Amino acid sequence: MTKTKVLMVASECAPFAKTGGLADVVGVLPSQLNAQGLDCRVIMPLYRQIKEKYIKQLAFMRWTTLKIGWRSMYSGLFSMEHEGVQYYFIDNEFYFNSQSIYTEYSYDIERFSFFQRAVLDALGAPMNFYPDVLHCHDWQTGMIPCLLDAHFRPHGYFTDMRTVYTVHNLKYQGVHGVNQIADLMDLPSRYMTDYGILKDGVPNFMKAGIVYSDMVTTVSPTYAKEIFLPFYGEGLDGVLRNYSYKVHGILNGLDLDVWNPVTDEFLEKQYGIEDFAKGKAANKRAMQEAMDLERVPDVPLITMITRLVDQKGVDLLLRVLDEMMEEDCQFILLGTGDGYYENEFRQAERRHQSNMRSCIMYSNDMSHRLYAAGDIFLMPSVFEPCGLSQMISMRYGNVPLVRGTGGLKDTVTPFDPVSGEGNGFSFPNINAHDMLFLLKDAMKLYRNDPEAWNKLVYNGMTGDYSWETSAQAYIDLYDKLLQS
Ligand code: ADP
Repeated sequence: MTKTKVLMVASECAPFAKTGGLADVVGVLPSQLNAQGLDCRVIMPLYRQIKEKYIKQLAFMRWTTLKIGWRSMYSGLFSMEHEGVQYYFIDNEFYFNSQSIYTEYSYDIERFSFFQRAVLDALGAPMNFYPDVLHCHDWQTGMIPCLLDAHFRPHGYFTDMRTVYTVHNLKYQGVHGVNQIADLMDLPSRYMTDYGILKDGVPNFMKAGIVYSDMVTTVSPTYAKEIFLPFYGEGLDGVLRNYSYKVHGILNGLDLDVWNPVTDEFLEKQYGIEDFAKGKAANKRAMQEAMDLERVPDVPLITMITRLVDQKGVDLLLRVLDEMMEEDCQFILLGTGDGYYENEFRQAERRHQSNMRSCIMYSNDMSHRLYAAGDIFLMPSVFEPCGLSQMISMRYGNVPLVRGTGGLKDTVTPFDPVSGEGNGFSFPNINAHDMLFLLKDAMKLYRNDPEAWNKLVYNGMTGDYSWETSAQAYIDLYDKLLQS
């Protein structure tokens, strides 16, 4: 039997380049699919950081020039095998030599326009790989199904190939002016319509992905339903409703090798389900020392690891932060993002020197240590397509307190002390005091009922966050598409 061949196209992939959950998913799903008998590979831009770190392992495959509008641009193709998965990288230092993965918005549109066209140009003979399914992720790759339709299929290329488009976050859509996109994409006018790639009169990459792909997926069953509603649809709910027949929700899993407190080398003390009380106590103490907080074992340590953007419910927290810090608790935030929020948290730390720390930075090492040290993990998102942090926190015995939306609703079940079932705390409305009162209840349980608390931790740590079920769901979708 021949293997189903899949090429994932994305702007981020762990461990090469990561700003959020997209990288985690693209970093682990291919190996999971391969373990189940597929041949799944990945293509992404060759960012400066990747070139610097992996220069010795990268193999040059070919270069060519791509005509984009009036420009002729160099496009290099490199490859590398990493932990059993074949990766391809599109090289162009003009576009990808910047310090960070993303730069200025309108320049990013141009960078990822180039990337998408370069990917299609490299498909097939140049990379010596003819995928059955092209699996695109988020706005940076949303034009690919449309470009296939416009530039390749009319000439008989890739006519049997199917496309899947995964929406990780509907908020970021890739919107730019008609003239610029017509120039960058070289699209016939029939695509520049409200039935095509235009949304409210302007090109929208995410809309294009939804309209022209064969199947649309998003990263949790609840978010897949929520996005049909105006509140969650980010202006695309009408488009999504029109194409609802091809929308599916598949929950993300975790990379269980990376996120495993039993083997995690970043931790002060590794721990498993048998010795979590001891292990967590050691990690908490080490964190309190590192943060110069009082070394108190029994005071609940509240944690938050997040991009500091409005999606994550940061406004809710800021609204009640001073009240929260009056409680007998400690709070450590690890996050970067919006400058306004960064400053608010810096200032809040000054007001609450005795029990709060704001670590305004991106640090993978620290995130591992903080997941392990914390007792309660706050994630009051306004919307959350899937969310990985709440699953990581559960695996590390750090009990999540979330707003019940999207993937948070699908993964966090409110704890019932009577039956002993459930793995966290969840409040339904976007209301700061609902969050605070629930948090107070959670802290009461932590202090007064260690047995119930330990059961809660146990339930979280023993949950199934593997990719197996979800990888199988993707395989079923690919099979369905290829049979159609
Ligand atoms: P999103 O993709 O919307 O940012 P997710 O919960 O899906 O949210 O994934 C966030 C990922 O990024 C998690 O692995 C989390 O640990 C990590 N992360 C977020 N902020 C930081 C930070 N400041 N430092 C280190 N890791 C972070």
